[in-house]
Amino acid sequence: MSTSEIPLPRGRIIEDTVVPARAPWSARIARGDMLRLIDLEGQQAIDFLCFNADDPAERYNAANTIKVPGNIFIGEGTVLRSTLARPMMTVTADSCGRHDTIFGCCSFEIDEVRYGKTNPECCQRNFERELARHGVGPEHIVPNINFFMYVPVGPDGEAEIVDALSKPGDHVDLRAEMDVLAVLSNCPEALNPATGDQGPTPIRAIVWSPE
Ligand SMILES: [Zn+2]
Repeated sequence: MSTSEIPLPRGRIIEDTVVPARAPWSARIARGDMLRLIDLEGQQAIDFLCFNADDPAERYNAANTIKVPGNIFIGEGTVLRSTLARPMMTVTADSCGRHDTIFGCCSFEIDEVRYGKTNPECCQRNFERELARHGVGPEHIVPNINFFMYVPVGPDGEAEIVDALSKPGDHVDLRAEMDVLAVLSNCPEALNPATGDQGPTPIRAIVWSPE
C-alpha cells in the first residue's frame, strides 16, 4: 500500500515520517496529542518504549500494563502504565488485535545465543542510539512493547514468535496521557518471524494534535 492511500487523521499534523527499514525514530509528544503507527507492508514488528518527558526514570512498565487489565496483549483501550503505575499512553484504535508485551527487543547478544548469528542491526542498539539524542542513557532501556508482533502463550507457558496478524496498512493510535518521549526501533530482525517472510520493511509514524 502506498502511503498516499492511507487517510491522515483529523487534526493538526505535527510530524508525518516514513521510518526506513531497520531504523529508529523518536518524538516528544505532548499530553493530549496522538501517535499513529502504521505497518505499511504488514508483519513488521515495531519495538516501542515511552518515558516521562521530564524524567526518564518514570517509564513504560510491562508488568503494570499487563496486571491492571489482566491481559498480556495490547489492544484498543489498553493503558500503557509507568513504573509508578500512572497512565502514560492509551491505545485508542487498533486494526490488528495482537501486539506483544513479553518478548522485549532483539540484540546482537541474544541473537547470538538464540541463533548463533546476528543481523546487521538490532533494536537494542537502535534504542541506545536514539535515546542518546535525548540525553537518556542505556540503563533506562527496559522490556518494550512489540507492536505488530504476535507471541501466543500456551496453557503450559510455552511462548514463541509466530507470524504476525498485521496486514498492509494496519495501525495503532495512542493518546499521550502525560508529556512523553516516545522511542521506537523498526525491528531489523530477519532470523525469526518478527518481520514476516519479506524481512524488515518501512513503517510510518504520525504525530498530531486532535484539536
Ligand atoms: Zn528487533
